[in-house]
Amino acid sequence: MDNKDGKKRAHAIALFSGGLDSALAILLTLRQNIEVTALTFMTHFGCDLGDRSSCGSNPYPVAKQYGFNVKLMHLGQKFIDIVENPEFGRGKNMNVCTDCRILMLQEAKNLMELINADFIITGEVLGQRPMSQVRGKMNLIEKRSGLRGKLLRPLSAKLLPPTEAELKHLVDREQLEGISGRSRKRQMELAHEFGLEDYPSPASGCLLTDKGYSNRLRDLLAHTDHLTFNDLNLLRLGRHFRLDDETKVIVGRNEQENKQILSYKKPHHYYIEAKDIGSPITLVLGNTSLENLKKAAMITARYTSAKNQPKVTLLAYNKVNQKELIVPPAKDEDLHYIIIK
Ligand code: SF4
Repeated sequence: MDNKDGKKRAHAIALFSGGLDSALAILLTLRQNIEVTALTFMTHFGCDLGDRSSCGSNPYPVAKQYGFNVKLMHLGQKFIDIVENPEFGRGKNMNVCTDCRILMLQEAKNLMELINADFIITGEVLGQRPMSQVRGKMNLIEKRSGLRGKLLRPLSAKLLPPTEAELKHLVDREQLEGISGRSRKRQMELAHEFGLEDYPSPASGCLLTDKGYSNRLRDLLAHTDHLTFNDLNLLRLGRHFRLDDETKVIVGRNEQENKQILSYKKPHHYYIEAKDIGSPITLVLGNTSLENLKKAAMITARYTSAKNQPKVTLLAYNKVNQKELIVPPAKDEDLHYIIIK
């Protein structure tokens, strides 16, 4: 599409999480009559649209309100690879923010080249996050993603060297912002100016920043050579117990988790439940020897409505076998040593 003066309208690719900063970066760009295509990433670590607790939030309402396109992209195995082996280390938990930003920007660069867009924008704010938004790290990310000069951060642009888009006057630098640090004051003002109301709080983050999830993931990485999608899906569910190097027990915490656990069960997996009383579904992964099934049954019994009885009767099934197990419920002080939390 062309401008009024017949020149090609500049076109930016935006990294768009659906959060306030990335939305404002887009609005500051759109305000200059620049076309914006927003890219929203999904991963197996909670950054998906169905999960409001994650870094991903629904990008469509804002896109509809302000008139820009959104493309969804799942990072799939590429993201799992960096979680297994991050080149630039991890944050406080299992988050791999530097590698993650580089991967997202590389994907955005591919799209930019494919559709002949001119530059990339992000909602990064200088000094806002310790790992990926300090100046040195921002430079590194820009360099490693192959985007030197092509990466514009509209919220902090006035504090950073001019990008190609500014030097070529595709963007008016004067209309961009010079925000730094953790205060959200200026962002709130801008949100008000643009009439942007429903945006997620900045505290939301991906599952890799969650302590409990990170502990379960760390345990899994220590006991497997290769993360599978099924393993990752199960990490989100239930209480996890490590019986030995090979064997893990996952106990559903509610009806919904019980159903989800069953949906991820493979034919060779054993699952355990007590019949006719309130009972979780327990999945046993790894070595399903009778000894391990009994231990898993004791753990399960602890979370049934008969947890104070001396013995509980449970059934362990896989596709071909069914075993009845009569065991005492495990004691909390023993579970303390094997729960992964
Ligand atoms: S918290 Fe870090 S690792 Fe997770 S999606 Fe955001 S940048 Fe990536």
